Order: sequence, then structure tokens, then C-alpha cells
Amino acid sequence: MKSLLAILIIVAFAAAIPFIGNKSIKVEHPSHLDADGNFIVHEWVKPHTGGGPDWNYNLKPVQVSERVWCFFGALEMPTKDNAGYMSNSCYIKGDDQWIAWDSGPSYIFAKQAYAEMKKIADMPVKTVIISHEHDDHWLGNNFYKEVFGATIYGTPLINEDYYGPRHVDGKDYPGMQTRMIKALYQNAIRGTVLAKVDKTFEETSKFTISGVNMEYVRVGYAHSEDDWFLYLPDDKVVLAADVVMNGRVTSNRDGIVVGQINAINAIRAREWEHLVPGHGFITDKSAADESVQYFALLKDRVLAKMEEGVVADLITKEVTLPEFKDKDLYWILSPGNVFRSYEELEMFDEDDLIDYSAEKSDGGGDDQEKDEEA
Ligand SMILES: [Zn+2]
Repeated sequence: MKSLLAILIIVAFAAAIPFIGNKSIKVEHPSHLDADGNFIVHEWVKPHTGGGPDWNYNLKPVQVSERVWCFFGALEMPTKDNAGYMSNSCYIKGDDQWIAWDSGPSYIFAKQAYAEMKKIADMPVKTVIISHEHDDHWLGNNFYKEVFGATIYGTPLINEDYYGPRHVDGKDYPGMQTRMIKALYQNAIRGTVLAKVDKTFEETSKFTISGVNMEYVRVGYAHSEDDWFLYLPDDKVVLAADVVMNGRVTSNRDGIVVGQINAINAIRAREWEHLVPGHGFITDKSAADESVQYFALLKDRVLAKMEEGVVADLITKEVTLPEFKDKDLYWILSPGNVFRSYEELEMFDEDDLIDYSAEKSDGGGDDQEKDEEA
């Protein structure tokens, strides 16, 4: 036995000889290493240039309620073939302007969406409201900015984490390349410039734009680091964006399970007839059901397996969500969601879940304050 081990060690040593003390590994492109000598995976790619007609997104607005129309994207990851049209964006009809909710994946998308809406009512878009920082939801901003001088409402993270082309000390620098800018064909992404948010809010805010009462609700760290949904109380409509999806599995790569559950409960605490998810086609009262179930099962199953002592490396084998196996993107995204939730749920605290039921029965936050005084 010992001699077999000795032979194995000698063989292993012989195989390793070429690598021991070898300092002559040649780096072909030193510019592809970062300061610590690691290979840079996400490097800048040459901008796509070229001619030809604009990509045709073939957009058809669907009326969701009296004043709300939406464009429903494919239940896919962003690809060249869908040109980033894999999320939902909406238009709200005000008295004298359209209000855009999430501006889509590109300048050309926004331009073509507006052309369709103009046929319904010839009004400008003066306000654009953005749900979160993922680039399938806001790269149309610069169309509305350039054409109408629109005011963009959104998370401050867009201004902190992204930048467009800059002119510094007499030199021009290109803008940041998001996944859309890298992935899409030039005739879909050209003209797209990262446009900053003009107006940010610290907390949930109520306002009226062109006769439409709105509540812009901050749910914070949920699907991304800072998520917001839009509630139209008179229309009984929720524009939920990515804290709710249906027909496909969500990507929780930037999100947290507890935040997601709280966000969905904040939506459920409001009175609504229609809900437009960030991805998915169901907009009736059952629109949020899949998300409610997905995150409840994810949390409970991962917590139960942790209790049993299952380690992180094995959690995706032990926890599956077969209830969702026929939904789009299940096989691509669900294991990642399970794996990611493990780390988060190790610190799970029941008190992090917000109870919105009190708020609902009392009819809003003001009454709740009164209750606390009483
Ligand atoms: Zn998203």
C-alpha cells in the first residue's frame, strides 16, 4: 500500500516538473490583465458601426387598463435575436402627455414604441419613470431626453453606477458598455447613449402628473439593489417591474429573497385590478401568484435544508423547484437563485420580513401612525 502511494507521488511529481519554478509563462496581451495580474473578463469591445435600416422591433402596444398600454417582451435572456426586447415597458395616458414607465433596451426601441403610441394619442412624453438599474429597462431614456426633453425619474444607482460618453481635459471618452451595448446588433443599439436620471427620491412618494395620481413605491434591495414600483390608485394598476415576473423564472443574481418577499407583500397590500410584471404576460389579479409561490418555496426549502446541515456546495442538488420546471428560463436561472439564496439565508432573521397586513386593514400608512400613538 505504502509503495503504491510512493509511486503515485513520484508520478505526480514528474508530471508537475514542467510547472515547478517556471517563470516564463508568456502573456500575449498584458493589457488583458488587471492590476493584480488577473485576466480581465469583461473588457471593452469595439463599438458596432455600420449602416442599414434600423432594427424592426415590430412593436404592438397592448391596452391593460383605460389609461395604460404596455409592450410585452419575450420570455428570454437578452439576445441578438430579440434585440433586448425581453422586458415589459408601459405608457400611461395623461391629460396632455404620455408618461413612460421603463424605457426599454435601446434608443431605437423607445423610438419605435413612441411611434406606435403616437397613433393612439399624439402627445409628447414629458416624464419617464424607471423601476431599477438593469439595462433592459432604461436604455431608451436618451430618446425621450433628446426628442422631448423629458424628465427622467429613477433610482440614484443609475447615476452612481453608469456613465455615458465624457469629455474630460479636452479628450473624449466612450460611455460605459452595458450588456445590451455589447450584445446587440449595431442596427438595434446605435444611437443609445446612457442617459442619467434627473429626479431621484429618497423614499416612497406620491405625485400627480398630467392628471394621473401615482405612488412611486420604494421597495429597496429586492430584485436589484434598489427597486421601485408604480401604483396608480385611481386606475387600480400596479406597474411592478422585476419584483414580479410570470411565465418565466426570475434572475435573483443581484437580488435577495427577503427583499423580494417584502416587495411582493407591499404590492399585495395595495388595492389593484391589473398588475404588469417586469417580464411575463399575465396582468390580471393572478399576475403576482407565481412570484409569491416561488420565493416562499425558495426560502422555506433552503432554510429547511440548512437546518438539516446541507452545505452550500450541495444546496442546488438538494433544493429544486419542480413546480416551475416548465416555466421559461427555469434550468438556466433557478439553480443560481437557490445557490445565491443560501448565503443570504444563513443570516435569515424572521424580523426582516415586513408585515403589511396591518397597513392594508387600516387603509394606509397614516392610520398606522395613529395606531402607534394610541
Ligand atoms: Zn431586472
